[in-house]
Amino acid sequence: AKESILTNIWFYDIELHEQEKMDNYVESHMDQALKDGEFQLYLQPKIDLKDGTLKSSEALVRWQTHDGRMLFPNQFIPIFENSGFCKKLDLFMFEQACLQLRKWMDQGIAPIGISVNQSKLLFYEADYVDCLKQIVNKYQVSPQLLTLEILEDLVADNVDEVNDKIHLLHQIGFRVSMDDFGSGYSSLNILGKLHIDELKVDRGFLQEIFDSDNQKAKIILQEIIKLAKTLAISTVVEGIETKEYHDLMKSFGCDLGQGYYYSRPISQEDFDKRYMEERKE
Ligand code: C2E
Ligand code: CA
Ligand code: CA
Ligand code: CA
Repeated sequence: AKESILTNIWFYDIELHEQEKMDNYVESHMDQALKDGEFQLYLQPKIDLKDGTLKSSEALVRWQTHDGRMLFPNQFIPIFENSGFCKKLDLFMFEQACLQLRKWMDQGIAPIGISVNQSKLLFYEADYVDCLKQIVNKYQVSPQLLTLEILEDLVADNVDEVNDKIHLLHQIGFRVSMDDFGSGYSSLNILGKLHIDELKVDRGFLQEIFDSDNQKAKIILQEIIKLAKTLAISTVVEGIETKEYHDLMKSFGCDLGQGYYYSRPISQEDFDKRYMEERKE
């Protein structure tokens, strides 16, 4: 028994060391990486559950380092959030999304909407809405094609302040989505108070239903979708990994689905080849 404890401690040590090395890399390279264009916009399709067609997409960041590694958001986003760098990254990704819409239109391709993740720090910046407005004006793209995904912990006790900001965003024409819905604790409260356009149900629900066979989670999810519908809020379920998940969500009347069953997040080039070239007029 003693030996196994020591082995565990030893592995733990290595993991900590690796984690520390990664954190140091991220912190010391992020500024230069942004300048050098190492952050890339990947897109994942959002599918209409009624007919299986592509409806819109989500922008997800990937970091292609100069030495050829691909880093994923969970390796760097938490660090960006601590340092405030996520404000710069989110604006960069928002601009990349606008650029993508512009490219589609210039190529005569009917554009689809793009959702962009927005960190709490950026959302609370005084000139946040103006920044976004300037970027859509620069690329001459329709704000209706852009959805801002925010997390429920962003709201905390500031419902009025968040609603004021959502109102300003709506005046420009942006849509606002509540991401990872159901992963926190204040969900229903938020649904009643916030003026959101879309609800993205956390993939934890599908895991509960299919991995843990949790019948209550199934009932709650069905009711959430119904409730959102009654409130005229559109619904997306994320983490659709199999046909079984797809069929259940379709039977629940959910509007859109996102997940590996349809596609992983893929590069802009791959996304164009796979989904957009056929939309050329
Ligand atoms: P998210 O916004 O909830 O994005 C969905 C995540 O689920 C993505 O992970 C996506 O690749 C993954 N996913 C999609 N379908 C499936 C599926 O069927 N099964 C499973 N297991 N996973 C699926 P990713 O790309 O690693 O991003 C992780 C998180 O990092 C995102 O979660 C988001 O919170 C954050 N993030 C990504 N890009 C940005 C960004 O540009 N700005 C900010 N602030 N956060 C970002
Ligand atoms: Ca998201
Ligand atoms: Ca999510
Ligand atoms: Ca998430």
